[in-house]
Amino acid sequence: MQNIDLHNHSRVSDGLLTPAELVRLAAANGVTTLALTDHDDTEGLAEAASTARDLGMRFINGVEVSVTWQQHTVHIVGLNIDPANAALMAGLAGIRSGRLERAEKIAHELAKAGIPGALEGALRHAHNPNIVARPHFARYIVERGLARDVRAVFKRFLIKGKTGYVKHHWADLADALAWIRGAGGVAVLAHPGRYTVGQGAMQTLMDEFVAAGGQAIEVVTSNHTRDQVEHFAAETNRRGLMASRGSDYHGPGESYLEPGKLPPLPAQCVPVWQTWGDPFLH
Ligand code: AMP
Ligand code: MN
Ligand code: MN
Ligand code: MN
Repeated sequence: MQNIDLHNHSRVSDGLLTPAELVRLAAANGVTTLALTDHDDTEGLAEAASTARDLGMRFINGVEVSVTWQQHTVHIVGLNIDPANAALMAGLAGIRSGRLERAEKIAHELAKAGIPGALEGALRHAHNPNIVARPHFARYIVERGLARDVRAVFKRFLIKGKTGYVKHHWADLADALAWIRGAGGVAVLAHPGRYTVGQGAMQTLMDEFVAAGGQAIEVVTSNHTRDQVEHFAAETNRRGLMASRGSDYHGPGESYLEPGKLPPLPAQCVPVWQTWGDPFLH
Protein backbone atom coordinates (compact mmCIF):
# COMPACT_ATOMS: atom_id res chain seq x y z
CA MET A 1 0.00 0.00 0.00
CA GLN A 2 1.35 3.39 -1.00
CA ASN A 3 0.92 6.28 1.42
CA ILE A 4 1.91 9.49 -0.32
CA ASP A 5 2.10 12.86 1.45
CA LEU A 6 3.27 15.77 -0.66
CA HIS A 7 2.98 18.84 1.58
CA ASN A 8 5.00 19.15 4.80
CA HIS A 9 7.04 21.76 6.65
CA SER A 10 10.22 21.66 8.70
CA ARG A 11 11.86 24.36 10.80
CA VAL A 12 13.63 25.58 7.69
CA SER A 13 10.37 27.54 7.32
CA ASP A 14 7.55 27.60 9.87
CA GLY A 15 7.46 23.93 10.92
CA LEU A 16 8.66 22.75 14.33
CA LEU A 17 10.70 19.65 13.42
CA THR A 18 14.06 19.35 11.72
CA PRO A 19 13.88 17.86 8.21
CA ALA A 20 15.29 14.58 9.58
CA GLU A 21 12.73 14.46 12.42
CA LEU A 22 9.92 15.10 9.96
CA VAL A 23 11.06 12.27 7.69
CA ARG A 24 11.37 9.88 10.64
CA LEU A 25 7.88 10.75 11.86
CA ALA A 26 6.45 10.23 8.38
CA ALA A 27 8.21 6.88 8.07
CA ALA A 28 6.87 5.80 11.46
CA ASN A 29 3.39 6.70 10.21
CA GLY A 30 3.78 4.46 7.18
CA VAL A 31 4.41 7.16 4.57
CA THR A 32 6.05 5.61 1.50
CA THR A 33 6.63 8.84 -0.47
CA LEU A 34 7.15 12.19 1.24
CA ALA A 35 7.69 15.71 -0.06
CA LEU A 36 9.22 18.45 2.07
CA THR A 37 7.66 21.74 0.93
CA ASP A 38 9.02 24.53 3.09
CA HIS A 39 7.85 28.07 2.37
CA ASP A 40 10.12 29.86 -0.11
CA ASP A 41 13.23 27.87 0.82
CA THR A 42 14.85 24.58 -0.18
CA GLU A 43 17.55 24.43 2.52
CA GLY A 44 16.02 21.37 4.20
CA LEU A 45 15.84 19.13 1.13
CA ALA A 46 19.32 17.58 1.31
CA GLU A 47 18.93 16.51 4.95
CA ALA A 48 15.41 15.18 4.34
CA ALA A 49 16.50 13.29 1.22
CA SER A 50 19.43 11.64 2.99
CA THR A 51 17.28 10.61 5.97
CA ALA A 52 14.65 9.22 3.60
CA ARG A 53 17.34 7.28 1.74
CA ASP A 54 18.51 5.70 5.00
CA LEU A 55 14.94 4.66 5.81
CA GLY A 56 14.18 3.34 2.33
CA MET A 57 11.50 5.94 1.79
CA ARG A 58 10.91 7.75 -1.46
CA PHE A 59 11.56 11.48 -1.20
CA ILE A 60 10.33 14.28 -3.47
CA ASN A 61 12.05 17.67 -3.51
CA GLY A 62 9.42 20.35 -2.97
CA VAL A 63 8.82 23.98 -2.08
CA GLU A 64 5.74 26.08 -1.27
CA VAL A 65 5.94 29.40 -3.05
CA SER A 66 4.18 32.47 -1.62
CA VAL A 67 2.25 34.33 -4.33
CA THR A 68 0.13 37.44 -4.43
CA TRP A 69 -2.77 37.06 -6.82
CA GLN A 70 -5.11 40.03 -7.08
CA GLN A 71 -5.37 41.02 -3.37
CA HIS A 72 -4.95 37.48 -2.10
CA THR A 73 -2.08 35.40 -0.85
CA VAL A 74 -2.05 32.09 -2.69
CA HIS A 75 0.38 29.21 -2.21
CA ILE A 76 1.80 27.16 -5.06
CA VAL A 77 3.54 23.92 -4.19
CA GLY A 78 6.31 22.90 -6.57
CA LEU A 79 7.01 19.16 -6.59
CA ASN A 80 9.95 17.24 -7.96
CA ILE A 81 11.88 20.46 -8.53
CA ASP A 82 15.59 20.63 -9.15
CA PRO A 83 16.88 22.51 -6.08
CA ALA A 84 19.97 23.53 -8.01
CA ASN A 85 17.99 25.44 -10.63
CA ALA A 86 19.36 28.99 -10.71
CA ALA A 87 16.16 30.82 -11.73
CA LEU A 88 14.09 29.07 -9.07
CA MET A 89 16.74 29.79 -6.44
CA ALA A 90 16.89 33.45 -7.44
CA GLY A 91 13.11 33.72 -7.36
CA LEU A 92 12.89 32.20 -3.89
CA ALA A 93 15.73 34.42 -2.65
CA GLY A 94 13.74 37.42 -3.84
CA ILE A 95 10.68 36.32 -1.86
CA ARG A 96 12.77 35.65 1.25
CA SER A 97 14.36 39.08 1.13
CA GLY A 98 10.93 40.68 1.56
CA ARG A 99 10.15 38.69 4.68
CA LEU A 100 12.37 40.54 7.14
CA GLU A 101 11.04 43.93 6.14
CA ARG A 102 7.50 42.62 6.54
CA ALA A 103 8.41 41.16 9.93
CA GLU A 104 9.64 44.59 11.06
CA LYS A 105 6.28 46.07 10.08
CA ILE A 106 4.37 43.30 11.86
CA ALA A 107 6.45 43.89 15.01
CA HIS A 108 5.79 47.62 14.77
CA GLU A 109 2.04 47.05 14.62
CA LEU A 110 2.16 44.57 17.49
CA ALA A 111 4.16 47.04 19.60
CA LYS A 112 1.44 49.63 19.03
CA ALA A 113 -1.04 47.01 20.21
CA GLY A 114 0.91 46.58 23.45
CA ILE A 115 3.20 43.68 22.50
CA PRO A 116 6.79 44.92 22.41
CA GLY A 117 9.83 42.92 21.34
CA ALA A 118 7.97 40.82 18.79
CA LEU A 119 10.65 40.98 16.09
CA GLU A 120 13.34 39.64 18.40
CA GLY A 121 10.83 37.17 19.83
CA ALA A 122 9.80 35.87 16.43
CA LEU A 123 13.41 35.64 15.28
CA ARG A 124 14.22 33.50 18.30
CA HIS A 125 11.60 31.03 17.10
CA ALA A 126 12.79 31.16 13.49
CA HIS A 127 15.55 28.58 13.08
CA ASN A 128 16.21 29.90 9.62
CA PRO A 129 16.71 33.67 9.87
CA ASN A 130 15.79 33.98 6.19
CA ILE A 131 12.25 32.78 6.84
CA VAL A 132 10.45 34.77 9.51
CA ALA A 133 6.81 33.81 9.19
CA ARG A 134 3.64 34.63 11.06
CA PRO A 135 3.71 31.37 13.07
CA HIS A 136 7.00 32.54 14.63
CA PHE A 137 5.23 35.66 15.88
CA ALA A 138 2.35 33.50 17.08
CA ARG A 139 4.71 31.24 19.05
CA TYR A 140 6.32 34.27 20.69
CA ILE A 141 2.91 35.66 21.71
CA VAL A 142 1.88 32.28 23.14
CA GLU A 143 5.20 32.11 25.00
CA ARG A 144 4.45 35.52 26.50
CA GLY A 145 1.21 34.07 27.85
CA LEU A 146 -0.91 36.45 25.81
CA ALA A 147 -2.87 33.73 24.03
CA ARG A 148 -3.75 30.09 24.56
CA ASP A 149 -2.30 28.75 21.30
CA VAL A 150 -1.07 29.69 17.87
CA ARG A 151 -4.50 29.42 16.34
CA ALA A 152 -5.87 31.93 18.85
CA VAL A 153 -3.05 34.39 18.07
CA PHE A 154 -3.86 34.25 14.37
CA LYS A 155 -7.51 34.93 15.06
CA ARG A 156 -6.79 37.86 17.32
CA PHE A 157 -3.74 39.47 15.74
CA LEU A 158 -2.39 38.03 12.52
CA ILE A 159 -5.15 37.53 9.98
CA LYS A 160 -6.44 40.11 7.52
CA GLY A 161 -8.32 42.85 9.35
CA LYS A 162 -6.42 42.40 12.63
CA THR A 163 -3.76 44.72 14.12
CA GLY A 164 -0.70 42.62 13.31
CA TYR A 165 -1.65 41.89 9.70
CA VAL A 166 0.57 43.66 7.21
CA LYS A 167 -0.14 43.81 3.51
CA HIS A 168 2.68 42.31 1.52
CA HIS A 169 3.43 41.63 -2.11
CA TRP A 170 4.81 38.12 -2.67
CA ALA A 171 5.75 36.70 -6.08
CA ASP A 172 3.48 37.00 -9.10
CA LEU A 173 1.59 33.85 -10.05
CA ALA A 174 3.09 33.61 -13.53
CA ASP A 175 6.63 34.01 -12.17
CA ALA A 176 6.15 31.32 -9.52
CA LEU A 177 4.84 28.90 -12.13
CA ALA A 178 7.66 29.69 -14.54
CA TRP A 179 10.28 29.06 -11.81
CA ILE A 180 8.72 25.75 -10.81
CA ARG A 181 8.22 24.51 -14.35
CA GLY A 182 11.66 25.76 -15.36
CA ALA A 183 13.15 23.71 -12.52
CA GLY A 184 11.48 20.58 -13.90
CA GLY A 185 8.74 20.62 -11.27
CA VAL A 186 5.00 20.10 -11.25
CA ALA A 187 3.03 23.09 -9.94
CA VAL A 188 0.20 22.37 -7.51
CA LEU A 189 -2.40 24.87 -6.34
CA ALA A 190 -2.14 24.36 -2.56
CA HIS A 191 -5.15 24.09 -0.22
CA PRO A 192 -7.62 25.89 -2.52
CA GLY A 193 -10.42 25.57 0.02
CA ARG A 194 -8.60 27.94 2.34
CA TYR A 195 -8.67 31.00 0.10
CA THR A 196 -11.30 33.55 1.00
CA VAL A 197 -12.21 34.35 -2.58
CA GLY A 198 -15.64 34.20 -4.16
CA GLN A 199 -16.65 31.44 -6.54
CA GLY A 200 -16.05 33.57 -9.63
CA ALA A 201 -12.59 34.63 -8.50
CA MET A 202 -11.75 31.02 -7.65
CA GLN A 203 -12.58 30.02 -11.23
CA THR A 204 -10.43 32.88 -12.55
CA LEU A 205 -7.59 31.83 -10.27
CA MET A 206 -7.74 28.26 -11.57
CA ASP A 207 -7.97 29.51 -15.17
CA GLU A 208 -4.87 31.66 -14.74
CA PHE A 209 -3.06 28.91 -12.86
CA VAL A 210 -3.62 26.48 -15.74
CA ALA A 211 -2.83 29.08 -18.41
CA ALA A 212 0.52 29.76 -16.71
CA GLY A 213 1.48 26.09 -16.54
CA GLY A 214 -0.19 24.78 -13.38
CA GLN A 215 -0.87 21.04 -13.60
CA ALA A 216 -2.40 19.88 -10.33
CA ILE A 217 -4.66 20.86 -7.45
CA GLU A 218 -4.23 19.81 -3.85
CA VAL A 219 -7.54 18.03 -3.46
CA VAL A 220 -6.87 16.26 -0.16
CA THR A 221 -5.28 18.39 2.55
CA SER A 222 -5.79 18.64 6.28
CA ASN A 223 -8.28 21.46 6.47
CA HIS A 224 -10.48 20.57 3.50
CA THR A 225 -13.98 19.45 4.39
CA ARG A 226 -15.43 16.44 2.66
CA ASP A 227 -17.48 18.77 0.46
CA GLN A 228 -14.35 20.69 -0.52
CA VAL A 229 -12.55 17.46 -1.41
CA GLU A 230 -15.44 16.47 -3.65
CA HIS A 231 -15.71 19.93 -5.17
CA PHE A 232 -12.02 20.23 -6.03
CA ALA A 233 -11.84 16.64 -7.25
CA ALA A 234 -14.60 17.50 -9.73
CA GLU A 235 -12.83 20.74 -10.75
CA THR A 236 -9.58 18.86 -11.24
CA ASN A 237 -11.23 16.29 -13.49
CA ARG A 238 -13.26 18.84 -15.44
CA ARG A 239 -10.07 20.76 -16.19
CA GLY A 240 -7.96 17.70 -16.99
CA LEU A 241 -5.64 18.40 -14.07
CA MET A 242 -3.95 16.00 -11.69
CA ALA A 243 -4.72 15.82 -7.98
CA SER A 244 -2.38 15.95 -4.99
CA ARG A 245 -2.58 14.80 -1.39
CA GLY A 246 -0.66 16.66 1.29
CA SER A 247 -1.16 17.15 5.00
CA ASP A 248 0.48 20.60 5.30
CA TYR A 249 1.97 19.33 8.54
CA HIS A 250 3.77 21.93 10.69
CA GLY A 251 4.55 20.05 13.90
CA PRO A 252 3.32 18.46 17.09
CA GLY A 253 0.76 20.49 18.99
CA GLU A 254 0.08 22.76 16.03
CA SER A 255 -1.09 20.44 13.27
CA TYR A 256 -3.98 18.21 14.00
CA LEU A 257 -3.13 15.61 11.33
CA GLU A 258 0.30 14.00 11.24
CA PRO A 259 2.00 13.10 7.94
CA GLY A 260 0.33 10.17 6.19
CA LYS A 261 -2.90 10.39 8.17
CA LEU A 262 -5.06 11.96 5.47
CA PRO A 263 -7.87 10.21 3.61
CA PRO A 264 -6.91 8.88 0.15
CA LEU A 265 -7.57 10.80 -3.06
CA PRO A 266 -11.06 10.23 -4.46
CA ALA A 267 -10.98 7.31 -6.89
CA GLN A 268 -11.78 9.41 -9.96
CA CYS A 269 -8.70 11.64 -9.51
CA VAL A 270 -5.53 11.32 -11.55
CA PRO A 271 -2.75 11.37 -8.92
CA VAL A 272 0.06 13.84 -9.47
CA TRP A 273 2.60 11.14 -8.55
CA GLN A 274 1.76 9.09 -11.63
CA THR A 275 4.02 11.45 -13.62
CA TRP A 276 7.02 10.18 -11.66
CA GLY A 277 6.66 6.57 -12.67
CA ASP A 278 7.10 3.49 -10.55
CA PRO A 279 9.05 4.24 -7.34
CA PHE A 280 10.63 0.80 -7.49
CA LEU A 281 12.30 1.65 -10.76
CA HIS A 282 14.12 4.63 -9.24
P1 AMP B 1 3.35 33.79 6.30
O1 AMP B 1 3.92 33.09 5.11
O2 AMP B 1 4.40 34.43 7.14
O3 AMP B 1 2.23 34.73 5.95
O4 AMP B 1 2.72 32.67 7.24
C1 AMP B 1 1.76 31.82 6.69
C2 AMP B 1 1.63 30.58 7.54
O5 AMP B 1 0.89 30.87 8.71
C3 AMP B 1 0.87 29.47 6.88
O6 AMP B 1 1.72 28.72 6.07
C4 AMP B 1 0.39 28.67 8.06
O7 AMP B 1 1.43 27.85 8.52
C5 AMP B 1 0.15 29.74 9.11
N1 AMP B 1 -1.27 30.18 9.19
C6 AMP B 1 -1.94 30.94 8.32
N2 AMP B 1 -3.19 31.18 8.75
C7 AMP B 1 -3.31 30.53 9.94
C8 AMP B 1 -4.36 30.39 10.91
N3 AMP B 1 -5.54 30.99 10.73
N4 AMP B 1 -4.11 29.65 12.02
C9 AMP B 1 -2.91 29.07 12.21
N5 AMP B 1 -1.88 29.18 11.32
C10 AMP B 1 -2.08 29.89 10.21
MN1 MN C 1 3.11 27.46 7.07
MN1 MN D 1 0.15 27.16 2.52
MN1 MN E 1 2.11 24.60 3.72
